[in-house]
Amino acid sequence: MTPAPIVALPPSLVEGHLAWRGVGFEQDRELYARLASEGQRPPTLLVQCSDSRVDGVALFGAAPGELFAVRNVANLVPPAEARDGISAAIAYAVGVLGVGHIVVLGHSGCGGVAACADLCAGQDLGDPMITEWVSHLRPAWEGAGAADPVALGHEAVRLSLRNLLGYPAVAEAVDRGALVLHGAWIDIASGTLHAIDDDGAFAPV
Ligand SMILES: [Zn+2]
Repeated sequence: MTPAPIVALPPSLVEGHLAWRGVGFEQDRELYARLASEGQRPPTLLVQCSDSRVDGVALFGAAPGELFAVRNVANLVPPAEARDGISAAIAYAVGVLGVGHIVVLGHSGCGGVAACADLCAGQDLGDPMITEWVSHLRPAWEGAGAADPVALGHEAVRLSLRNLLGYPAVAEAVDRGALVLHGAWIDIASGTLHAIDDDGAFAPV
């Protein structure tokens, strides 16, 4: 008999949820009630990696309702022509929610960035879905000019920021001064956040 593909949550997730509901949810109960009745007005769209070690809510100390988040492999904003789920999230965050900030957050040891480097060096990644996705990062690899993973990770963030300006809703909001873009990169081992400063360089905050 074929195993059932959809089964009950594993006990570890149920226990974790119940612990959160008893403490974390209780602490923010009034905030959740207000957000539920009034809706969300998050000031910031965060584009972050799916990597399990990177939690934008934690590292920015964000409260519920503060970060509208998109997660994908390599915290990537593809060119606007891609018109995928990321595009829809960006259009909604900017056009409907009216966020005033977009943060692209990269990180050390990113598997998606490493896969891009392998692909650009001529390796066959195997899975066509992964290959097609990380191919969006090829201009970053060419821009970084070397196989240095930190430089490539930073350049990947810059590429996503440039791609964001190709989204009509983003370009329009930036032009009228209602939206600004930011780039950041977290070193997982030290917990140090590097962010693009006013001079355009990554520097520790
Ligand atoms: Zn990653």
